[in-house]
Amino acid sequence: TVLDSLKKLVVDFLRGKDPYEVAVENFIKELQKTLLRADVNVKLVLQLTNSIRERALKEKPPPLVSRNEWFIKIVYDELSNLFGGDVKPQVFPQKTPYIIMLVGVQGSGKTTTAAKIAYFYKRYGYRPCLVCADTYRPAAYDQLSQLSKQIDVPFCGEQKSTDAVNIAKKCTEWCINQNSNIVIIDTAGRHGYGEEEALLKEMQEIAKSVNPDEIMMILDASMGQKAYELALRFHSATPIGSITITKLDGTAKGGGALSAVAATKAIIKFIGVGEKIPEIEVFEPRRFVGRLLGLGDISTLIEKLKSIEHSEEVEKRFAKALSTGKITLADIYLQLQTMRKLGPLAKIVQLIPGLSMMPIDDKQMKITEEKMRKWLAIIDSMTYEELRNPSIIDKNRMVKIAIGSGTTIEDVKELLKYYELVNTMIKNIKRRKTLFKKFGI
Ligand code: GDP
Repeated sequence: TVLDSLKKLVVDFLRGKDPYEVAVENFIKELQKTLLRADVNVKLVLQLTNSIRERALKEKPPPLVSRNEWFIKIVYDELSNLFGGDVKPQVFPQKTPYIIMLVGVQGSGKTTTAAKIAYFYKRYGYRPCLVCADTYRPAAYDQLSQLSKQIDVPFCGEQKSTDAVNIAKKCTEWCINQNSNIVIIDTAGRHGYGEEEALLKEMQEIAKSVNPDEIMMILDASMGQKAYELALRFHSATPIGSITITKLDGTAKGGGALSAVAATKAIIKFIGVGEKIPEIEVFEPRRFVGRLLGLGDISTLIEKLKSIEHSEEVEKRFAKALSTGKITLADIYLQLQTMRKLGPLAKIVQLIPGLSMMPIDDKQMKITEEKMRKWLAIIDSMTYEELRNPSIIDKNRMVKIAIGSGTTIEDVKELLKYYELVNTMIKNIKRRKTLFKKFGI
């Protein structure tokens, strides 16, 4: 979608050579264009960019953080605010059985979302149950019944009845008797846009009889900023309301819908990001924006390492090196030995936020087979003291190490240079890791 172009904007900004003020203005202009194209309200866009500009010119970055990096942090903060700020919705119920009632206009993705949510909770060990209280659309019963079979979740409905209130009540009892601890009720969505009053009234009628713990409104992202009015009225109509925004994958207007709903202070709980059942996510503004900006996630590094056929030892040592900001020649030795399995360091480094944006000299990181064998021999010829603290290696020792390992002084120097390079890199990673932690990613 439109918002995906933000990633490139960030990379270009961090690599750019323009003077700070010029680069900031350019960035802001592009950001405005992108947000407007995503149907974010003009007033919200101007508010956002004004506070970004103000902070960008006023704030001094903390030590070890460049101005450009700090600017991205400001953008990250302010964009997160646009989409709801530092909130994490409470998705796991405080009590069971927990009853969720879904409302929304027809075609918003209500039935699909009912199944998605059931599947979501099932994966976390809950026992969900699906209820079809949509008596208006005959196909609704079949659709939900089919979906419930797909995800192997109990289903309750009544094909012939027209009394939605009665079905909702009876089926909820049935589900609880089935030992379900989350009941998800799909209601009729016959009303089109502009008939929200009737929709809310019906919602209150069913709610009176089943006494839900949560009423969730399903909103189609392609509504864009038009979602504001509807969300606002819904939010003021019920104190137990939450909102799920669907079809964020299929519309350019997703940014508009998200920011509009966030502006009402209603809770956005989930977002639908595809037609398939698992394609639903808990909505956390900071995570969402972090991804939009391509800030990455430090845990991807560990995950990636795991997914490759890995050596646990290297992982441990690198985790340690990352937390202490220091690496030893013994660690390098191991890294060299496992390089064939894990790939060059440069590849590992790409997974780290911040660093992936930093231009890394690939040539410096590339090590040939031959070099690798030589370096291993050199490290073998060093004393424990030298391994721990290579700075004590003087000219005299270099000659001896070269002779002992059957290499040249140049080779020894090159290894020591590589060690320095990796060390600096680890320090940078640590500093960035701390920084990104502060950002809350
Ligand atoms: P209802 O009338 O509100 O119950 O809507 P449905 O659940 O029948 O969904 C309407 C259409 O939207 C279907 O074709 C769904 O596959 C599609 N849909 C629902 N959620 C999403 C989503 O998150 N992404 C995409 N791309 N399609 C979705």
